[in-house]
Amino acid sequence: MLLLTNIGQLLTLRGPAAVRRGAAMRELGIVADAAVLCSGTKIIAVGPRREIARQAKRAREIDCGRRVALPGFVDSHTHPVFAAPRLVDFEQRIAGATYEQIAEKGGGIRSSVDAVRSALRRSLAEQVVSAVTRMNQHGTTTVEAKSGYGLDAASEIKSLEAIRAAAARFAGTIVPTLLGAHVVPREFSTRREEYVRLVIEEMIPRAARKTDAAKAPGSSTVRPVMRASSRRSASDGQGAPRWRSSGGSSRLAEFVDVFCERGAFTVAETRLIFEAARRHGLGVRAHLCQLSETAVADLLEFEPASLDHMECACPADLPLLAQSSTVITLLPGADYFLGLLSYAPARRFIEAGVALALATDFNPGTSPTISMPMVLSLACTQLQMSPAEAIAAATINGAAALRLAHSKGSIEPGKDADVAVFDVRDHREICYWFGENRCWAVINRGVLQARR
Ligand SMILES: [Zn+2]
Repeated sequence: MLLLTNIGQLLTLRGPAAVRRGAAMRELGIVADAAVLCSGTKIIAVGPRREIARQAKRAREIDCGRRVALPGFVDSHTHPVFAAPRLVDFEQRIAGATYEQIAEKGGGIRSSVDAVRSALRRSLAEQVVSAVTRMNQHGTTTVEAKSGYGLDAASEIKSLEAIRAAAARFAGTIVPTLLGAHVVPREFSTRREEYVRLVIEEMIPRAARKTDAAKAPGSSTVRPVMRASSRRSASDGQGAPRWRSSGGSSRLAEFVDVFCERGAFTVAETRLIFEAARRHGLGVRAHLCQLSETAVADLLEFEPASLDHMECACPADLPLLAQSSTVITLLPGADYFLGLLSYAPARRFIEAGVALALATDFNPGTSPTISMPMVLSLACTQLQMSPAEAIAAATINGAAALRLAHSKGSIEPGKDADVAVFDVRDHREICYWFGENRCWAVINRGVLQARR
């Protein structure tokens, strides 16, 4: 047993609703002078220090020295499988080129593809391990990891295998996503229907094939995702949740993602890809409304776990999103790094009752940061979210965006023992000190990983 004790402020994020909306995003369930008792990989007791101490007779003790503890961050949108930073894009953008101008000149997503195609799976896995380890050191315990820089069947599967190999070496949790539909690769530029067919007929079936968990390298740490099979009630916990588990064997991907945007894939193509994902039992999510406005109605019938970016979301869609089980994941790191002047309308989303999550969008082109605390700082200063709202979006709502709110995102008995301890006295400081790492200790499923 492991006892985290002498916690000055414990942010439990406890509560009946799995995903937070509106005013509920400001309720962090704070316990002062608290302790958390873990057994194996799970939390078994949470509460005032004196009360918990009585139940923890022979536990190994970690004195948190009055610091702040919270659920480990859930970074629900990352692209860690790449070979090199994109420094030419970086300089061109500084000189005034836009995202689309850079892509037209051969930069952008396509410029990461050649390097990934020629890389060994082992070296891609090293990159992923390096990224998720640094994320972990900044308080993130669950990471969604996308493929998407291979853009042919062999390289996309190689990327997913690299994610699986990295997961085997990572103490935290990785949720793999196939993003074969990131952009149409050069060689298919005049035959885009053929590329969509390749995603549907080759990539998705291969990514969805179950592998015996005992034989698959790394599968023990790729968590089987539980998927909601009903509408809003499923992820809210307001109705009877109906979960479907992928069971004892694991797939190379749990989700299929599509970059639905001008210059990438149309809504009609996205629907075809989502239909294929559904046929193969995979969850779906999309990059949407990053550069241009797209109506969400045609995608919501697929019950995407999340729609991400949404800087250009149509205001008329907000009531529709508020009624759905879909989480909207905002990625302010990308807007910051692209030097944009306007960010996603987070306040409007919150006021409309839309469930919001925050993630890094870690990728070499538009958001080279692994730091959730940096994202929280941007959420407060640029999206006008309160520190409490930002923390809820980065924990329990991030878990809901991966359909993992039953096991992640809050500190409650029965949940995975994923805890981050920050070297601060007040939780608002986590969002306040930017550009430095205040994370003091991380517990990944009951195992103390790092203490400074
Ligand atoms: Zn992305």
